[in-house]
Amino acid sequence: MIILDGKSLSLKVLEKVKKRVETLSVEPHLVVILVGDNAASKIYVNNKKKAAEKVGIRSTIIELEENISEEELISVVRKLNDDDNVTGILVQLPLPAHIDKNKIITVISPKKDVDGFTPENVGRLVTGLEPYYYPATPQGIIMLLDEYNIPIEGAEAVIIGRSNIVGRPMAQMLLRRNATVTMCHSYTKDIESKIKTADILVSAVGKKIVRCKMVKKNSVVIDVGIFRDTNGKITGDVDFDYVSSSAGYITPVPGGVGPMTIASLMYNSSKVYL
Ligand code: NAP
Repeated sequence: MIILDGKSLSLKVLEKVKKRVETLSVEPHLVVILVGDNAASKIYVNNKKKAAEKVGIRSTIIELEENISEEELISVVRKLNDDDNVTGILVQLPLPAHIDKNKIITVISPKKDVDGFTPENVGRLVTGLEPYYYPATPQGIIMLLDEYNIPIEGAEAVIIGRSNIVGRPMAQMLLRRNATVTMCHSYTKDIESKIKTADILVSAVGKKIVRCKMVKKNSVVIDVGIFRDTNGKITGDVDFDYVSSSAGYITPVPGGVGPMTIASLMYNSSKVYL
């Protein structure tokens, strides 16, 4: 069994991004919008800022009051769209309940949408056109599969979870690479039988869902989930000890998909479409 070492690949990717940034004629500038006081969001945003600093990407955090109106937030995004000194815009989710996140995402210029969440970038992904940006987590997972020369073409891929940030774009990206993709979610019947068919299993749920020896012998197991167990320890969707005895490749939590997501976001943030 081989551990897919996201931590060490992320450092390689960040190094490449840094070199790429040095050659650019236009300085990339990532602006992250943080609304309200969500403690976890603050940590994520600061981690993104630190990663940007490491690779020489200028970054700015705009902190806005929890009670900002939808219209005011839209106007902040529009100003950033029109600002030629800004090359990337990221609105940290979740947003307060009174703001419709889809309305805000839709306003971001697709050419500055480093998360790859706008309808234009999603539409491009689904229709086979080239999006300006691929969503960071699935893009980081593809980088990891490629680094370990894991064949995607013709593979049976099973994805658990259908969020817009992980499951759905993951399915599209694997489909683009000619995998046969099965999507599972909370209404899927007999999920165990689907998991057993997977050459590549991607779990993005946020609960311990892949247990025991459910997985196919020598399969590739990608654990996107990250949460705290009842003892407060960071863990993933996959019961690592059991599953790793059957899997051929597996990502650890932490140290797998998490660092790849940040590196992949920095790769996106180094792209400039002015
Ligand atoms: P999410 O929006 O929380 O949605 C969870 C998905 O899991 C939904 O599609 C849900 O199905 C499905 N689900 C829930 N219970 C299920 C069950 N018993 N059987 C099958 N499917 C079930 O998902 P997310 O935002 O993608 O996050 C998922 C996990 O990944 C979280 O732990 C999150 O923290 C982590 N994450 C990690 C990274 C990273 O970089 N490592 C990045 C993003 C997210 P329905 O659609 O039917 O409700």
